[in-house]
Amino acid sequence: MSDFPTKARVVVIGGGVVGASTLYHLGLKGWTDCVLLEKNELTAGSTWHAAGNVPTFSTSWSIMNMQRYSTELYARLEDEVDYPMTYHQTGSIRLAHTAERMQEFERACSMGRYQGIEMEIWTPEEAKAQYPFLEIHDLVGVLFDPSDGDIDPAQLTQALAKGARDMGQRIIRFCPATGVTQHDDDTWTVHTGKGDIACDIVVNAAGYYAQRVGEWFKPYGGRTVPMMVMSHQYLLTEQIPEVETWTKENGKKLPLIRDVDVSYYLRQEKGGYNLGPYEPSCRAHWTDVSDPMPDDFSFQLWQDDLDRIEDIVTDAMERVPLMATSGVSSVINGPIPYAPDGLPLMGPMPGVKNAFEACVFTFGIAQGGGAGKCMAEWIVDGSTEWDMWAVDPRRYTDYTDHDYCVAKGMETYGNEYAMHFPHHEWPAGRDQKLSPVHDRVIANGGVMGVYNGWERANWYAKDGDDTSLEATHTWNRSGPWQHRVKEECEAVRDGVGVLDLPGFSRFMVKGEGAAETLRGLVTGGLPKVGRMNLVYIANAQGRILTEMSCIRMGDDEFLMITAATAQWHDRDILMGAMPAPVTVEDVTTTRDTLIVTGPKSRDLMAGLTDADLSTGWLTHQAATVAGQPAYLIRVSFAGELGWEIHALNDHMPAIYDAVTAAGAKPFGMWALNALRLEKGYRAWKGDLSTDYSLLEGGLERFVKLDKPQDFPGKAAILAEKQQGVKKRFVTLVVDAGDADAPYMSCIWSGDEIVGETTSGGWGYRVNASIALGMVRADMATPGTKLEVEIYGQKCKAVVQEDQPLWDPENDRIRA
Ligand SMILES: Cc1cc2nc3c(=O)[nH]c(=O)nc-3n(C[C@H](O)[C@H](O)[C@H](O)COP(=O)(O)OP(=O)(O)OC[C@H]3O[C@@H](n4cnc5c(N)ncnc54)[C@H](O)[C@@H]3O)c2cc1C
Repeated sequence: MSDFPTKARVVVIGGGVVGASTLYHLGLKGWTDCVLLEKNELTAGSTWHAAGNVPTFSTSWSIMNMQRYSTELYARLEDEVDYPMTYHQTGSIRLAHTAERMQEFERACSMGRYQGIEMEIWTPEEAKAQYPFLEIHDLVGVLFDPSDGDIDPAQLTQALAKGARDMGQRIIRFCPATGVTQHDDDTWTVHTGKGDIACDIVVNAAGYYAQRVGEWFKPYGGRTVPMMVMSHQYLLTEQIPEVETWTKENGKKLPLIRDVDVSYYLRQEKGGYNLGPYEPSCRAHWTDVSDPMPDDFSFQLWQDDLDRIEDIVTDAMERVPLMATSGVSSVINGPIPYAPDGLPLMGPMPGVKNAFEACVFTFGIAQGGGAGKCMAEWIVDGSTEWDMWAVDPRRYTDYTDHDYCVAKGMETYGNEYAMHFPHHEWPAGRDQKLSPVHDRVIANGGVMGVYNGWERANWYAKDGDDTSLEATHTWNRSGPWQHRVKEECEAVRDGVGVLDLPGFSRFMVKGEGAAETLRGLVTGGLPKVGRMNLVYIANAQGRILTEMSCIRMGDDEFLMITAATAQWHDRDILMGAMPAPVTVEDVTTTRDTLIVTGPKSRDLMAGLTDADLSTGWLTHQAATVAGQPAYLIRVSFAGELGWEIHALNDHMPAIYDAVTAAGAKPFGMWALNALRLEKGYRAWKGDLSTDYSLLEGGLERFVKLDKPQDFPGKAAILAEKQQGVKKRFVTLVVDAGDADAPYMSCIWSGDEIVGETTSGGWGYRVNASIALGMVRADMATPGTKLEVEIYGQKCKAVVQEDQPLWDPENDRIRA
């Protein structure tokens, strides 16, 4: 084939809606010399048979952003690329059967309005007025989303492809990629049956084949793509005269119904219905040798399996009895890929340079437009407009084996519309990574949560406490845990607490030039040998990429400690920045950490260690604790006198036993969260994210603009400093009701939204509901009276002084 492209800037593998959108958006950003490879015809994977629903609803800010962008793009795409497309914005009504569901709707509604989507809360009667065929006797309320709708997925993909081609991009159909080779300069050759293509960057957009394609990247640092494949069905009914008449009389389609408490959507399809359930008794495919994944499943479907969805179909017929008057005309049963949390993998490929993932989409039609925009930003700019951690492939690390992916995928599918309560931990796929003192934590009553696959105690139950999952089905602060969390915080305030923190991510960075390279990476200064600092890394826009504790062991030797969930994110940043002979070693799994903290921690430690306990805050030293070799760091995220004890896993049980025997009270992650909020300590990917610049985040004291090194973001920070920040980080004390402010609650001044919370919770030492957040710069003056909207309730809030609520002078930490 003479005009086969042998060179491209980017090769996108996969011609579904996501690959096509990525190619289109790369073109919009001026990268018009890219190639898309499709093994069959465009849309041959999941895209061709998708129902085409395009919701914006989400309780995740970034997912809502991505979906909102899709709706905006789809509304203009036909004209933008001159390709006819069927896109109906019918609006949708989401039905609530419980008060908790209404709270979820209120929260999404408020986020939606902040993004410019005019969502509304309706009474059941108002819904009935818009949808006369709906039974409403058992409903509590309804969320109306005017931007929801449906699109023809094949037309959408072809439109994006046309737009891309018109800009000069190449699409090669019936041309499977067969492998990749990475070269010494980190560029690639993508192999195909028709020839090789040399390129700078590769994107895995292979849909449900993404794991297979992902295997090719293993020699270059890659891992098994964490995913599995579910069978998903929808059925189409015959035409229903009443529906056709209604449409004729009203000149539009009926709004789409989502009965989320039952778990299905029901949409008008021509003059009949399309019913799509997410059934708890679901079916995974291609999970073992008895059901192998074929090499090619293009444009194929599975046999329909209506038994599985019978209960839901019956329910839908009771909700809209008109449905029962028609027969089923056809059933679509096709493959839909699932990552363990049901969100796509979108962003840098973990461990591999110049490679990206845009795959494993369960709602790829709704998200495809936004995904293309984000992917083009990742590839061209190195960062995205909105923080996209929720879908970043690096959120999963080494614990996502096959069984885990299958178990979580099935759990997520069966609970696709379930509410994600703040105190709820999903039960499937647990115990992937255990602390060396896990048995002791459990014996002490630990009620566990998952952090990057590691089991940590959220709180400690006593005999008789209700630890059931049902008890966590609430948005409220109170539950069986609340008194225990309070007791744990008080033990840290008055005595000594101990928290087992397995999976604290840690990296040894050493070798000649390590200090100089780090200075060129972080925004601030490095500690002296024997001391530790917090350091921040910014992206080119001066936004917050990450925060690490930097412990300096020698001139060119550093221990970098960071959040559990940040493990692969920060590993890739460090490894990408350190030239030989500097080495970066991930030593996360070989060690465990205890936080021993509280005003009596020095007394307790004195009986157990040969360390010098008089050294000041932010110092560190090697020592023995309970006769075991350990490393002590004088720091406490809880905001009291305290030490982190770091030790090899084998040594930790004896240390833990000695610390608890000496009287330290075990406390959990929920207490730690409450304690850190009172100190205004930011948490990663809540308070600290690429949605905000370091200056907006109030982190100027960690920025050294006068140092000679040109660290990432320096120019942007300098420019922002000259112009002045638009937003500022604040601590608010909130006159909250039963619930504290969740992430991304709107902050109001009168009738205007002036900011958003980044985290919230109850502070048991200050006895108040606290919210950390970002407000318009002119609203950040201490004493400013605002309101925080918590699940639909506007609660009075006051901006606090720019200092911790608890121990503002840090006297207790420095004691
Ligand atoms: C029954 C059903 C209904 C659905 N309804 C909706 C809905 O209403 N709304 C919604 O948002 N989502 C829906 N989905 C999900 C949606 O279909 C997917 O999320 C979306 O199509 C994923 O698009 P994609 O581009 O990521 O993957 P795909 O469409 O699967 O595209 C991947 C492409 O990669 C190609 N490929 C694979 N390997 C190679 C290779 N080696 N070389 C070259 N090409 C390769 C494949 O041939 C395929 O065309 C539904 C799914 C199902 C099963």
